Amino acid sequence: MSIETSIGLETGQPYPYRRVELVEPDWTRFPGWKDVTTADWESVQWQRAHCIKNVRQLRELLGDLVDERFYADLERDQAERATMSMLVPPQMMNTMVPDVAPAGPGSLTEAFYADPIRNYMLPVFSDRRTDWPSHPHATRDSLHEHDMWVAEGLTHRYPTKVLAELLPTCPQYCGHCTRMDLVGNSTPVIDKLKFAGKPADRHESMLDYLRRTPGVRDVVVSGGDVANMPWARLEAFLMSLLEVENIRDIRLATKALMGLPQHWLQNDVVEGMGRVASLANERGVSIAIHTHVNHAASVTPLVAKATRAMLDTGIRDVRNQGVLLNGVNADPHALLDLCFRLLDGARIMPYYFYMCDMIPYSEHWRVSVADAQRLQHHIMGYLPGFATPRIVCDVPFVGKRWVHQLASYDVERGISHWTKNYRTSIEASDADALSRTYQYYDPIHTLPEAGQQWWTEHGSLDESALKAAEMAEASRRTAALQAF
Ligand code: SF4
Repeated sequence: MSIETSIGLETGQPYPYRRVELVEPDWTRFPGWKDVTTADWESVQWQRAHCIKNVRQLRELLGDLVDERFYADLERDQAERATMSMLVPPQMMNTMVPDVAPAGPGSLTEAFYADPIRNYMLPVFSDRRTDWPSHPHATRDSLHEHDMWVAEGLTHRYPTKVLAELLPTCPQYCGHCTRMDLVGNSTPVIDKLKFAGKPADRHESMLDYLRRTPGVRDVVVSGGDVANMPWARLEAFLMSLLEVENIRDIRLATKALMGLPQHWLQNDVVEGMGRVASLANERGVSIAIHTHVNHAASVTPLVAKATRAMLDTGIRDVRNQGVLLNGVNADPHALLDLCFRLLDGARIMPYYFYMCDMIPYSEHWRVSVADAQRLQHHIMGYLPGFATPRIVCDVPFVGKRWVHQLASYDVERGISHWTKNYRTSIEASDADALSRTYQYYDPIHTLPEAGQQWWTEHGSLDESALKAAEMAEASRRTAALQAF
């Protein structure tokens, strides 16, 4: 469906706004959870203990409501394509096919295939492209964050801000994860890198760098997902950060506010966040939570309750950074539904939609820069200006750029050229860093015939060569880590 068709240009307003009440789908519709109580559901321990981690557990949950064909498709993807291991908390599982009543064997199969949350949390082999499953320029660590580490896990890419990867795990694993190089367990396709240093030593090195680098004022405290860090350790790190005079903005990255809201509703977490917010306010520092919601169906009453609990602690804001994904939300209606659901239902501020990065096997999710520009155009004017998300392209060696900011664009070959106005931490003595152009590549299957032909002639996609290159890259990085 074209973007123009999907917004219904032929009738009235292209997007008809309607306020929607949030609903927690009934989890007892799934055979494996038919006896699960509300008390269990709202317990973070129960949620963590009942995550779906493999095909066997999914089969135990759904039984024959889904055909064997689907399970085989999922199993094949895990063996041959998946860059992330499977990990879906019940809370997220329950937002799949929320409106389809089970009606006997196989009755959920087609709805499961079509479901947007399933699409990115449980990718199957038949979702992926077979012509160009990976772009020839796809790489692990496509944003070269490790190259810009100034302490292990601390990326200094922009002049005044840093990204602190405190830990390499999350309560949920997204199939499209841009940090697939490091985050989560290894899969048959990807051997993950491991941090070499002990967590306490790494965190101290990060703080040490920030104390002696007064030009940095803003820290994204991330991972992974900070919800997987024992609260006492996270609080200690945040309190230390608040002692660093130059730090004025702190953003906590947690998809779990949506994927496992039960975590953020625990008493010790709410009370601890109150202490952190109180010290931040005393010192005039802004502390906010940045979450990652990709579809309106994910915004349920429990997500709203957890957000409310966090805002009530006195933090400045809760903002959303989604990822633009074909099959999930790359449609103006889906994006606007999500933004209004966040804003009206949960008081979460729509902030960014990132284009999906050029990681291996992500071509079926990625959209072209031209389509991203059209989507940005179509979502303008409906939301308040302060809540209208920017669609951004994270250009390797550059950073986030609004999608209309490109310097030039070869639409036929899908190659966009971008410039930047600052040096990253690895370019201090690079005289050409600010005059050079940097490239981003559209998915080849979206290009006109002539462009696809050009890539057929010039872009080699030999899968064994790709795998060999990935292994070589992993070895190089492991060696670099050990030398840290
Ligand atoms: S929550 Fe974020 S870091 Fe974790 S798997 Fe998803 S995208 Fe990756």
